[in-house]
Amino acid sequence: MNISHHPDQTLLLDYATGAMSDAFSLIIATHLAMCPACRREVSALERIGGAMLDRENPPQARGDDFEALMARIERDEREPEVRPARPPVPPALATFPRPLRDRLTSLGSDVPWNRRGAIETAFLPAAEPGHKIRMLRIAPGHGVPQHSHRGTELTLVLEGGFSDITGNYVRGDIQVADQELDHQPLADDQVACICLAVTSDRLRLTGPLGRIIDPLLRV
Ligand SMILES: [Zn+2]
Repeated sequence: MNISHHPDQTLLLDYATGAMSDAFSLIIATHLAMCPACRREVSALERIGGAMLDRENPPQARGDDFEALMARIERDEREPEVRPARPPVPPALATFPRPLRDRLTSLGSDVPWNRRGAIETAFLPAAEPGHKIRMLRIAPGHGVPQHSHRGTELTLVLEGGFSDITGNYVRGDIQVADQELDHQPLADDQVACICLAVTSDRLRLTGPLGRIIDPLLRV
């Protein structure tokens, strides 16, 4: 996989320290499942965080550790750990990276696509108010309406690719957009582009028609 667009270090740090919302954690975890470079970066950040915590809260005395270890061994011998079997993965979801696939599997056996013209959309429940988690399947060569953002939008390519004024994005690439970016992503010609997108606030439609209907929509 040839990934050239990654989350910036601030996002990875928020993810590593657990400071990130569930919606954004889902998209970062899905990118990490596809990106060894960012996985290494997150492990390094977690090690640094762990070392800083250890310095502030030194581990307990060795004797306590030994007793706790023996207690755990005795408990494990009495109650061997039984891992619950994972439910089978529905075939329609098999190609998605595990964090997203697990979330989708908990909702059903297929992505709940909703078609409107050349674009299919599926909303996943978001825990945080104002956040939206959506999947998009854009027909080859078609675009989503031109828009800007009221908050942050992360878009991760799962299949195919898209382009906008900032460049070309293919499987595994993640785009970070904010209020500064006004764009109209256009799917590549050959195959449908499937993306996962997370927003922290409503989009702002900015095309000629979009400016008129934006106040009426809740996108
Ligand atoms: Zn990456």
